[in-house]
Amino acid sequence: MKYFSTRDASQQKRSFTEVLLEGLAPDGGLYVPETYPEVSKDLLTKFRYLTYKQMAYEIISLFVGDAIESSDLKKLIHKTYSASVFGSESVTPVEQISNGIYLQDLSTGPSLAFKDLAMQFLGHAMDYELSRRGQTLTILGASSGDTVSAAEEAMRGKECINVVMLTPRDGMSSFQKAQAGSILDDNIFNIALAAPFDRCQDLVKSINKDIPFKQKYKIGAVNSINWGRICAQIVYYFKGYLSITNSNDEWIDAVVPSGNFGNVLAAYIAKKMGLPIRRLIVSTNENDVLDVFFKTGTYQQKSVKVTSSPSMDISKASNIERYFFDLLDRNANVLSDYMSEFETTKQIDFSELLAKIQIETGFFSGASNHQERLSIIQKIYQASQRVIDPHTAAGVKVALEYQQKDDSLPYLCVETAKPTKFEEAIQEALGFLPKRPAQFIGLEDKQQRFFDLNDHEDDIKSFIVERL
Ligand SMILES: *Cc1c(COP(=O)(O)O)cnc(C)c1O
Repeated sequence: MKYFSTRDASQQKRSFTEVLLEGLAPDGGLYVPETYPEVSKDLLTKFRYLTYKQMAYEIISLFVGDAIESSDLKKLIHKTYSASVFGSESVTPVEQISNGIYLQDLSTGPSLAFKDLAMQFLGHAMDYELSRRGQTLTILGASSGDTVSAAEEAMRGKECINVVMLTPRDGMSSFQKAQAGSILDDNIFNIALAAPFDRCQDLVKSINKDIPFKQKYKIGAVNSINWGRICAQIVYYFKGYLSITNSNDEWIDAVVPSGNFGNVLAAYIAKKMGLPIRRLIVSTNENDVLDVFFKTGTYQQKSVKVTSSPSMDISKASNIERYFFDLLDRNANVLSDYMSEFETTKQIDFSELLAKIQIETGFFSGASNHQERLSIIQKIYQASQRVIDPHTAAGVKVALEYQQKDDSLPYLCVETAKPTKFEEAIQEALGFLPKRPAQFIGLEDKQQRFFDLNDHEDDIKSFIVERL
């Protein structure tokens, strides 16, 4: 399997491991596989008898091709999806929460959000490839949310990797701050800036534009545009489908709380590979760029509102470029024109393609506001005694809405985080705090380490030069 950039008409080929370490393509595009491998009905039947890690190997190896020796790949996938990391052999257990609505728990990993499922794989795969090449990498990122702790949990203690994360000093919940700050491994550097999240992100972007610096200090990225993450996320949609069906003739609808469009893109690719998903239903919060797009065909960047589901607070969805590429019949020239137009106008009009978007590719959407999420949290608690987090509630809200119009198929919703990460919202909805998993009791009292720096590019660069 080979990859090329969505903006490269000459389709210069890269291997899986090159794409893994490179992240974003140099032309600003995103790497995509040259084809989507097909999973036949016979192979799908075989998958019904596999454990999560066995199936992860079957699926991920289709995308890795010959870039990693198969016995090595098997070892690193088995290490990634072990019961000691994800709580059980099933990794992403599925439960029915109301009639026809199923919840697949994707937040069983160490940071309590679904990002662990991909990030843990990325950590092992990057470490493997870097040690094979005798190289090191400094991962530079910015996040106010779940990415920091998922990335740091995955990379802690890895010999070839350092992690430098820029975070807003006042922008994280005390739980999230403690989660990241209490990771004290030598290769993890949390930087706190007296600046908002956007500023942190801009600093990462401008440091990445300094190509000589980037090359000299081997700066890399693990944000959700990294293909290694998407590829690992495809696995759990197969698992979810197989958990709620008995035969491959059955169809399901999938509902995914979305922000940067990485998670639902994986579901879309699973569908392209042959998994019988009828509709891919994207759920957003008050930041409804994606909801407006899938309803009208017009994609328009907006300013971000801070909500009670912060990991879905985005102004544009970076991964959607991969979907646009397919929508434009994989024509890199046409896509590049649209993307450069978007740079200036902040808008793309695909309204003429709306029928293709909905009927052919199966995308639909819905949105929720704070009050609606709170009442879903109450409703699900009353019905099943299960406490769900505000992101998961955003998905369940949209699933219930669609079910009222069409209950012919089961709805697979994904639980993207554990309620403990968003205690304030749960307190507001239910009047009590969610029960914390044992390893997080007293988290805020643990020793924390943050490096306080000024929000100047030169200060961050000197830190990297001096410390790494
Ligand atoms: C990251 C995240 C999302 C959004 O996922 P995308 O892949 O960016 O669409 C949703 N919920 C939670 C809890 C997250 O951490």
